[in-house]
Amino acid sequence: MKSVDIRKAFLAFFESKGHKVVPSAPMVIKDDPTLMFTNAGMNQFKDLFLGNSAIKDLRVANSQKCLRVSGKHNDLEEVGVDTYHHTMFEMLGNWSFGDYFKEEAIEWAWELLTDIYKLDKDRLYVTVFEGDSSENLKVDQEAIDLWKQHIAEDRILMGNKKDNFWEMGDVGPCGPCSEIHIDLRSAEERMKTDGATLVNMDHPQVIEIWNLVFMQYNRMKDQSLVPLKSTHIDTGMGFERLAMALQGKTSNYDTDIFMPLINKIEDLSGLNYKPVDEDKHKQALEINIAMRVIADHIRAIAFSIADGQLPSNNGAGYVIRRILRRAVRYGYQTLNLKEPFLCRLVPTLANQMGEAFPELNNQKMLIEKVIREEEISFFRTLETGLKRIDQICINLNAEGKKEVPGEAVFELYDTYGFPVDLTNLIAQGYEMTLDQEGFEKALEEQKNRSRKAAETDTSDWVVLKEDDAEEFIGYDYTEGDVYITRYREVTVKDKTIYQLVFSYTPFYPEGGGQIGDTGYIELDGEKTFIFDTKKENNLILHFAKELPKVLNGRFKAVVNSAKRKLTSNNHTATHLVHAALRTVLGEHVEQKGSLVTDKSLRFDFSHFSKVTPEEIKQVEDLVNQEIRANHELEETRQIPLEKAREAGAMMLFGEKYADVVRMIKFGDSIELCGGIHVPSTSQIGTFKIINEGSVAAGIRRIEAITSEAADQYINDQLDTLASAKETLKNPKDLTKAIHDLLEQNSKLQKEVEALKKEQAKGAKDEILKNAKEINGIKFISAKVALDAASVKDIAYQIKGQEDSFFFIVGSYDGPKAMLTIMISDDLVKEKGLHAGNIIRELAKEIGGGGGGQPFFATAGGKNPDGIENALTKAEELL
Ligand code: ATP
Ligand code: MG
Repeated sequence: MKSVDIRKAFLAFFESKGHKVVPSAPMVIKDDPTLMFTNAGMNQFKDLFLGNSAIKDLRVANSQKCLRVSGKHNDLEEVGVDTYHHTMFEMLGNWSFGDYFKEEAIEWAWELLTDIYKLDKDRLYVTVFEGDSSENLKVDQEAIDLWKQHIAEDRILMGNKKDNFWEMGDVGPCGPCSEIHIDLRSAEERMKTDGATLVNMDHPQVIEIWNLVFMQYNRMKDQSLVPLKSTHIDTGMGFERLAMALQGKTSNYDTDIFMPLINKIEDLSGLNYKPVDEDKHKQALEINIAMRVIADHIRAIAFSIADGQLPSNNGAGYVIRRILRRAVRYGYQTLNLKEPFLCRLVPTLANQMGEAFPELNNQKMLIEKVIREEEISFFRTLETGLKRIDQICINLNAEGKKEVPGEAVFELYDTYGFPVDLTNLIAQGYEMTLDQEGFEKALEEQKNRSRKAAETDTSDWVVLKEDDAEEFIGYDYTEGDVYITRYREVTVKDKTIYQLVFSYTPFYPEGGGQIGDTGYIELDGEKTFIFDTKKENNLILHFAKELPKVLNGRFKAVVNSAKRKLTSNNHTATHLVHAALRTVLGEHVEQKGSLVTDKSLRFDFSHFSKVTPEEIKQVEDLVNQEIRANHELEETRQIPLEKAREAGAMMLFGEKYADVVRMIKFGDSIELCGGIHVPSTSQIGTFKIINEGSVAAGIRRIEAITSEAADQYINDQLDTLASAKETLKNPKDLTKAIHDLLEQNSKLQKEVEALKKEQAKGAKDEILKNAKEINGIKFISAKVALDAASVKDIAYQIKGQEDSFFFIVGSYDGPKAMLTIMISDDLVKEKGLHAGNIIRELAKEIGGGGGGQPFFATAGGKNPDGIENALTKAEELL
């Protein structure tokens, strides 16, 4: 069975059991501060389990892109080393939200695996939760009894809390689970060792393929378990592992999901992926691991970029950058790939997975370009790092030391991304060892530092009032009478703030690029300020520095509406500029990020060259036209996603759209957006772009301002212009006047230079005329009114045309005096004259000091009247 068909069969099966098939949510999470990446199929349904959102479909199935590289689920170190853990993988899942429970979940899982996929029942084992006395949890007898109807009792194994109690993170929904494992070993080996003894023992061919989670509890901050209002089913089956089982392979990488990538890497490196007993062939093992790491990582990187997450210096972007660098290092170190190669795998990947995930094809060029740039810059870092290691080793060698200090190893690791074994390899070339212990210490210290910096302490919710959903009324109102339904305390770096949830709220929570509202709530004359508003798990959190003294009561909630109005100007302008960019630059322009505040707007988009000043002007003109056309806001608050698509609404990859969306239309601009907009475009007043630049390969950024800020900006520019005009005595044509001035200036400059040359030439002739013979030496001396540079020039000219001379010129410039001595080389050699020493003596006459080389020296002083004496003294000396 081809992998494409395996995926289709899964979804079709659950559709036949009344499940609604939904698309994968984005892999990069944008609105949940507790999670950077989707790490399980259930993430997007978290608020349904917690009861924060209304349930629309009781049964759902999908294939979810997951990434397990950080936080509670982090498989990064296993990836490539083993053959069945990936960074990015697809999780096939079926869900029941308060509908069916264990019985159907177990029955259908079994039916699909054995009837539809026809897996050999003799190779399957299941595990159930054995209970845990410390948590007061009993053995899951219900699951055991249900499994007995399908599978022999000796294939039902007990599992402990670590394996059979599923938790998404430190807090949140959780419950006991039942896993299905498969034994893929050869008949011979299965005869030798009973598969049941290898379940959950990290055997590469006896592995878990499916986990059925019975969601029953919410894990609280104090670690207690509180039962959920209703029970749910959450299952996750590893698509790549299933493909391995169904395609008769013993490694995920041997399936049709990875083989094309592995083949391409073989092509690029000229090496072979060898299916050998890796324990016995160390070199083949290393090459195989490197190829697996690269085949795996390219997927994580490409899918993240398609989801709108570019590699960067912090947060999710940094995680992606690290994955990319890890892949490059393996290629560089083991496969001898010394030029960008990851970007060359993108077409293969798009070819392989583009049908199921069209974003890969649509954004292929951008993905390739971004990866290529990242690779180039990392290769540069690697080169610099290599030089650094060499230098460190050479220095140590010179000092007779034989060990590279731990801090140096850490610096290479931290700054240049050098893995310790690579540093070790290079150090070996210098017959040196590494201070492993010192390195570990430095690493540990850094971890502690960053842990401290990121430490957040969040208390459990204090519930004041039971309430179902917290409605947002902010599209229609900026005020409302609300209750506080719950609150909690959050401490970050010793600073404590409070997050409040209301019965309903006019406050817009940060989202869609737009900043959160600020304002206050008031009760009995006491105002509590709200300094930010954000969304988490579908709850709108209002941030306050203090709690109100009285918590129970009807508060008047008031949004800072002046600030919000300015923000809405910028938000609507963002839509207009998006449309204008597509008109002026082309349809390839796609939004890659935005920031909308009350002060300005920022818009990032895909485009492969600089936006020219003419194009900027066209975009500005278009936006201003749309502003003046005074388009009224056409808002459809609830429209099915499909209908919105038909209406021509722009949709972005990496955005998680609900089935029913809000559609915002101004003239020809139609977008799906939850933000706050102007009632009609003329409110925006003026639109002005103040910056254009690049943020990453293939991504440009525009910064712009609107309304009063734009007026202010334009007025400032006009002021500057007016003062320039005034300075130039109000010419009719300012540009021409400046141009003329510059031209005149450069003409004058040329003239001055010519004159100076002339003057110096005259001075030189004059000086030479006064030369006299003293003891066979040509003594050239003069007192002149020239600048230092001209005298030096003359001195060197004379050096070029005369022999056996002694040149001394005293020059002055107002109160400043200068002496310059030049002596021909033959005199320096034969007579041992030294200009530097001589001038030090003579400088006294002009009240200063100086020095220089044997043939040339200068001195400066404050007494021009002493020049004559200095010249006489020189003459006497000779
Ligand atoms: P394992 O113990 O093998 O790491 P797990 O207990 O972490 O698995 P779950 O969190 O229950 O796995 O995820 C559900 C399913 O997703 C697993 O049964 C497995 O098939 C698949 N899966 C989990 N982690 C990975 C991964 N890193 N790469 C590929 N598939 C995975
Ligand atoms: Mg795991």
